Amino acid sequence: MLKVENLQVNYGNVNALKGVSLHIEQGEVVTLIGSNGAGKSTLLKTISGLIRPKSGSITFQGEDITRLSPDVIVARGIAHVPEGRRIFTNMTVMENLKIGAYQRRDKDQLKADYEEVFSLFPILRDRAEQMAGTLSGGEQQMLALSRALLSKPKLLLLDEPSLGLAPVMVDTVFDVIDQVRKSGITILLVEQNAHLALESSKRAYVLETGEIKLSGDSQALMEDSRIVEAYLG
Ligand code: ATP
Repeated sequence: MLKVENLQVNYGNVNALKGVSLHIEQGEVVTLIGSNGAGKSTLLKTISGLIRPKSGSITFQGEDITRLSPDVIVARGIAHVPEGRRIFTNMTVMENLKIGAYQRRDKDQLKADYEEVFSLFPILRDRAEQMAGTLSGGEQQMLALSRALLSKPKLLLLDEPSLGLAPVMVDTVFDVIDQVRKSGITILLVEQNAHLALESSKRAYVLETGEIKLSGDSQALMEDSRIVEAYLG
């Protein structure tokens, strides 16, 4: 479904990605782990068109999307929930959700999708007219995820969804990720919480200083001494 080949990204003279290749098959949850500054967010931003790579290619459903603009990439079916959530704090919950759906033309289906989001997260219905900035961190994460789901993605890019959340909220977010996967959406998950991320995914890649250092079955990686030492210890 997604194929990233030899992707190189520079910020000035910082080589953030040094030839990254990976692939994601339809229906998979694939995890990307790596320490701070490894290039995880840069990879997601490049896939969603926010950053132009120096070289390499990104193919989605058989088509080259490497240099398309972010709005075109969303329309193709890739939604990105950025680190730190990036909701519009001075707009209401409902206004934030509408932004997620702004390219949708299938108004009847959209109504059903709002209902689905509200059944996943009833709190968002209760708070629909409240300013998004007044939601708790966990509620803001739910809003960011819901906003992405309303673009009706085929592939969801999740950047650190558990960051800064209380443990009970982390469980809720991961339960939702599981439900989203069961609904048929493919997921690329970036997570600091390597244990949880490996448990929730089928395969994983380990990114270190801009290069893929290890990859494979998540279960097998959980037992790999290099992973245990660096990420699970
Ligand atoms: P974290 O887990 O800390 O969010 P990350 O793996 O997501 O880290 P990136 O944010 O992708 O890492 O950063 C990769 C490298 O690129 C880092 O060395 C970072 O300092 C650098 N970098 C990221 N954004 C910029 C930018 N806008 N300008 C210059 N350097 C940047």
